[in-house]
Amino acid sequence: MLKFFIEALSERGVAFSLDEAMSLHTSFKIGGRADVFVCPKSCEELSFVLNQANKYSILLFVLGKGSNILVSDSGIEGAVVNLSLLDGIQINENEIICESGAHLSKVCNAALENSLTGLEFAFGIPGSVGGALYMNAGAYGGEMSQVVKGAYCMDNEGNTFYIPKEEMELGYRNSIFKTNGLIITSIIFSLSKGKKEEIKDKMEQLMARRKDKQPLEYPSAGSTFKRPQGNFAGTLIEQNGLKGLTVGGAQVSEKHAGFVINIGDATCKNVKELIEKIKNTVYENSGILLETEVIFVGRGDNI
Ligand SMILES: Cc1cc2nc3c(=O)[nH]c(=O)nc-3n(C[C@H](O)[C@H](O)[C@H](O)COP(=O)(O)OP(=O)(O)OC[C@H]3O[C@@H](n4cnc5c(N)ncnc54)[C@H](O)[C@@H]3O)c2cc1C
Repeated sequence: MLKFFIEALSERGVAFSLDEAMSLHTSFKIGGRADVFVCPKSCEELSFVLNQANKYSILLFVLGKGSNILVSDSGIEGAVVNLSLLDGIQINENEIICESGAHLSKVCNAALENSLTGLEFAFGIPGSVGGALYMNAGAYGGEMSQVVKGAYCMDNEGNTFYIPKEEMELGYRNSIFKTNGLIITSIIFSLSKGKKEEIKDKMEQLMARRKDKQPLEYPSAGSTFKRPQGNFAGTLIEQNGLKGLTVGGAQVSEKHAGFVINIGDATCKNVKELIEKIKNTVYENSGILLETEVIFVGRGDNI
C-alpha cells in the first residue's frame, strides 16, 4: 500500500523523501528512519496527503519541529508529515493568524514588531505553534490557553473544521488534540496592545533566565517529565542524587536535573533506560511516580 501512496504523491507533485533519518528532525538528534517523509507546501496538498494516507491505510505522524519527541531507533512506520512549510503569519489588529508550522519564536517576534503583548512567555520555547497548541506549552506563568482564540484543523480525510478555544480542553501540557486525531493547520492568537519596549524587555529577561538555567548547549527535548503535583521533577531528581547519571550517550543534566541531554550519539534506547532508572529511583525513595512529558514516537513499546 505504501507503494500506491508514494505513487499518488509523485503524480500530484508533493515533495517527499524515503528512509529519512529522523535524527535530523528532532531537537534530541535521536531517531531512526521514517519510511516516507512528506513535506506539503499548502493546506490543499496537506488535505491530499491525508486523503491518500486514509485511502491506502498508511500510518501518519504529524511533525512540528520535533522538540518534544523521542523517536525510536527503529524509526517510524508509514508517513511523517512535516508541517514546516506551512508557516505563514498574518496580523489583523490585535490578532495573529498563523499556519501551524510557523516557529513559535517568529510569531513572538511578529507580536513584538506590532506591539502586541501576551506571548512574551513563549519566546524561547522551541517548536512550532501547532506543536505548542497540541502540548498547551507554557513557561513562567503563561501558557497557550491564555492567548489562543481558536484553530483550524483537518481530519484524516482532509476536511477542515474550526475549533474555538473553549472546545480544546486545554490543561497542563494537555489538549483535545492528543485524543481527537485532528491536525492543527492554523491558529488565531488574541493579544492586547502593549508597549514595544516593555514587551522586548520581558522577552529578553525570560530568554536570559532560560540560558542561565537550562542546558541549551546540548540536544534535548526540554523537560523530560511533567511537573508532579506540589513538586518539581528536577528538584526530586536532584534530591535523589541522580544529576550526572549516564546511560550510553544520555545523561541527567548537571545544570538542570529536569533535562535528559544527549552528550554524544545517544540512542532512544539509552534515553528510555535512563528514564526508567530515574522513575524507579524517585518512586522508591519519594513515592512519586514521574510521568514523561516527552512523547515517544515510532516502532516499539511506549515509554
Ligand atoms: C531546550 C528546550 C526547552 C523547552 N522548553 C519548554 C518550555 O518552557 N515549555 C514547554 O511547554 N515546552 C518546552 N519544550 C518542549 C517543546 O518545545 C514544546 O512542547 C513544543 O511546543 C513542541 O513543539 P514542536 O513543534 O516541536 O512539536 P513536536 O515535538 O514536533 O510534536 C509534539 C507533538 O505535537 C504533535 N503536533 C505537532 N504539530 C501538530 C499539529 N500541527 N497538529 C496536530 N498535532 C501536532 C506531534 O504529533 C507530537 O505528538 C522545550 C524543549 C526544548 C528542546
